Amino acid sequence: MEKTLVCKSCGYLGKAKTVTKGSLGMEIVLWLFFIFPGVIYSIWRLSSKHKACPKCGNTTLIPYDSPMAQKTIAEAGITEETLNEAKEADKKSSNDKRQLIKFILIGVGVVYGISLISSIISDITASKTDIQSQAENQEEAQSDFELGTYKVESEELAYIDSKEVRIWKSFSERKLVGKLYEGDIVEVTSHDPENDYCQVKTEDVTGWVACGWLKRVAK
Ligand SMILES: [Zn+2]
Repeated sequence: MEKTLVCKSCGYLGKAKTVTKGSLGMEIVLWLFFIFPGVIYSIWRLSSKHKACPKCGNTTLIPYDSPMAQKTIAEAGITEETLNEAKEADKKSSNDKRQLIKFILIGVGVVYGISLISSIISDITASKTDIQSQAENQEEAQSDFELGTYKVESEELAYIDSKEVRIWKSFSERKLVGKLYEGDIVEVTSHDPENDYCQVKTEDVTGWVACGWLKRVAK
């Protein structure tokens, strides 16, 4: 509870007013948008905080019950009745305003904290989505394989004694269904990006070969 004071300058009797430079609105705006200026502004506001006479603005307030105050009270013509009224008013007046400001500041702090956390979370989610889309892009790149006419052509063939490319029933089912030789023309009808295997169709058979043996024939 704040004490009743008397102003030596104007004879005001009552509570002092807390004077703070700047504005709360500005403080909130700064805190909402930039952390650093908000801190500086708040420190400046706190350091400027002082008690002053609400009537004349001077800081010449002294406790009403101090010996010095008696002279002022007498000079200002303040009666005992007025003095008691002021004291009663002091007791009654709660710190409603302060409470309200406190709630606003806490509210702003909470909102600020939530927005900060949510922005961090959205950043994390965004980077996760990036990784996902990158993986998807890679898959797409692999499945970008162009189906169509291919020719059996590879330098590697020179190193194989049989000079033949075996056509398998499937990548996993190693059943020989046919053979290809250098220069043969095939239709690639499907591509397995995981194993880089091509489904080839010749006049006689359909089966799977490693795509490395094949070269695209221009349309
Ligand atoms: Zn005053």
